[in-house]
Amino acid sequence: MSTYNRLPIAITEARGNYLYDTEGNTYLDLFTGLAVNILGHSHPAVVQALHEQGEKFLHISNKFLNPPAIRLARRLVENSILGRVFFCNSGAEATEAALKLIHKWSLKQSGGKSGFVVMKKSFHGRTLGAVRLTRQPGVQQDYPQPEIPVWEVEPNDIEQLKAVCKRERPAAVLAEPILGSGGIRPLEESYLREIENLCREQGMLCCMDEIQSGVGRTGQLFAYQHAGIQPDLILFAKGIGGGLPLGGIIAGETLSDLFRPGDHGTTFAPSPLSAALGCAVLEELLDRGQMEQGRNHAAHLWERLRSLREKYPETVGEIRGRGMMIGLSTHRRAEEIEALQRELLAEGVLVDITQQTVIRLLPPLTLTPEETDRFVAKLDAHFAKWKGKA
Ligand SMILES: *Cc1c(COP(=O)(O)O)cnc(C)c1O
Repeated sequence: MSTYNRLPIAITEARGNYLYDTEGNTYLDLFTGLAVNILGHSHPAVVQALHEQGEKFLHISNKFLNPPAIRLARRLVENSILGRVFFCNSGAEATEAALKLIHKWSLKQSGGKSGFVVMKKSFHGRTLGAVRLTRQPGVQQDYPQPEIPVWEVEPNDIEQLKAVCKRERPAAVLAEPILGSGGIRPLEESYLREIENLCREQGMLCCMDEIQSGVGRTGQLFAYQHAGIQPDLILFAKGIGGGLPLGGIIAGETLSDLFRPGDHGTTFAPSPLSAALGCAVLEELLDRGQMEQGRNHAAHLWERLRSLREKYPETVGEIRGRGMMIGLSTHRRAEEIEALQRELLAEGVLVDITQQTVIRLLPPLTLTPEETDRFVAKLDAHFAKWKGKA
């Protein structure tokens, strides 16, 4: 079905930081399958895990213990919050699991609180439950929505957040530490800490949607960790399966024992294969220095982008985000940015666009300084052309 606007190329192979198409062209991939391939394509450790687990078993169902999933859950908990993990197959399903779990908590332990505070322009998925929490008219459209109370607040407005929480008594605050499809808009660390404070004070749940910002993308395993807070619930997906479908939630001690057998579930998850790839990804990030190297690579990219902004203030607005999750906002029209994306593609670089005029960069942590320089030189040439015309 015509659910996607596609780019006019067909990929035959992907290796490292590059895509190869049917016409013999090569593309530097600054999109990584929408924030999935955090270590680039076909990383040797990921491919090895694929072969090793592929020869053992692909699926066994939840009637049995699943060793790769247990290993992955342990690593996630050891590197985030004390609690338990529920695995599913995607980001939207992680949001659904969170909705059901928080509903249980609301009924049993919240002292009458219910519903969610979410950020304006948030994105939490497209299933009917998740779309209730997604605050983008183009995504919500006029689809039916469940009667879950939801209040929308302006990101980083602490006073408004306080007022809404006091007045409405929500069960939870759900936030992306960096709003992804909302235009790469980071929540300030002080704001994240205020969310945590309010949740502690008023007995609400602090929930972080790390589906796009997690798995090392911002230079920490999860982006909330930059602010030093302790959420009650973490949503993850995208990068965690090393390129295969996998998502889930990490529930802290308040929530970790609420689901009982039969309360929630899914046939395929956790795929032993996805979980094995997830273990390989976390090993690379946490034990083999990939996250630290990614931080260095990102620092170079940020430095070069900032110098572009100094050179072309008439074109480049804010540069937002953290690590390898970057939004370069522009003062050009949507059609011009779309044309720029096509021209860059013709020159062998794949970038994404979000909120029409924001160039969204989601590069692999393995992006080298040389690759960054080549990309920035291309952007520079286009911005110079615009400057000449203006
Ligand atoms: C992509 C995304 C989702 C939805 O994930 P799917 O796997 O596409 O269902 C939810 N929240 C955030 C922040 C995302 O970026």
